[in-house]
Amino acid sequence: MTRIAFIGLGNMGSGMCANLCRAGFEVCAYDLVPEALERAVQAGAQTAGRAAEAAAGADVVISMLPAGEHVLDLYFGAGGVAAAVAAQSETRSEALLIDCSTIAVAQAREAIERAAAMGLTMLDAPVSGGVAAAAVGGLTFMVGGSTDGFARAQPVLAPMAGNIFHAGEAGNGQAAKIANNMLLGISMIATCEAFNLAESLGLDAQTFFDISSKASGQCWSMTTYCPAPGPVPTAPSNQDYQPGFSVAMMLKDLQLATAAAAANDAPVDFGRAAEQAYAALAADGHDQRDFSVPMLALKGVL
Ligand code: NAD
Repeated sequence: MTRIAFIGLGNMGSGMCANLCRAGFEVCAYDLVPEALERAVQAGAQTAGRAAEAAAGADVVISMLPAGEHVLDLYFGAGGVAAAVAAQSETRSEALLIDCSTIAVAQAREAIERAAAMGLTMLDAPVSGGVAAAAVGGLTFMVGGSTDGFARAQPVLAPMAGNIFHAGEAGNGQAAKIANNMLLGISMIATCEAFNLAESLGLDAQTFFDISSKASGQCWSMTTYCPAPGPVPTAPSNQDYQPGFSVAMMLKDLQLATAAAAANDAPVDFGRAAEQAYAALAADGHDQRDFSVPMLALKGVL
């Protein structure tokens, strides 16, 4: 029986942890927040008083934390998870570390290198899909790291996943994630501008949707997540732009993308423009609204 330590039971992690319990894995969960631990217990997990304690007996450690500094501290800080796992690996088969948080490519590569220096295999495995996909086990995993580590991770990721991709070497999962989300941020703002332009020229949203969703402008931001209310009933635009995926989350991913682009001399003029647009929304207090809310800003009703 594969034993899993799951660290970070927030909006995403709680659903992921529950799906691992449902699939029959023995899960020991840890979070700083007692209510999060209580939810994990209800889902069928055991809990530990410290992260290192949860990790000590585990075959696989999965983390789902807010940002890179939390991840580096969890694994390599004082009383960290990596040392606890390394201490066990002398007496047990090698444990696998899988970080699913969205963090900087450089931080993911640093973590995987530091783990390797301790004799441990670590993967970056960020996800796309959001809270609803986490709850139903429909996430898309983008995995960076060794082929052997990826092969060992697949059965563990499967109960949480709709798709699992090996993106290549260490950090490549994060690279795929931020490039994808930069494209999403740009396409969402472009979709908002197109609907606003069409409406200002006399087309209603449904008519423009019917045409453009069958023409060359169609994209996920339009057909699955339409920022104009009406055409896609499940989209947050029909629920007063409640997230979904928040402005704050999109801004975080765009900041990671533009920082990585600057460090690697990759021009991202539109990515930077999208970052500035979301930063302005966040600064105006709209950070917890859905990332399709630029639609209201363009209409001047935000
Ligand atoms: P969240 O803030 O809801 O959850 C994070 C959890 O980590 C919290 O419960 C917090 O208490 C816990 N935590 C923080 N530091 C900890 C530590 N040292 N030890 C143990 N627990 C700790 O965040 P979330 O929405 O679940 O997102 C998690 C990650 O997934 C982020 O990196 C985010 O960018 C990424 N992500 C989120 C979404 C989304 O739609 N929410 C989608 C894709 C990716």
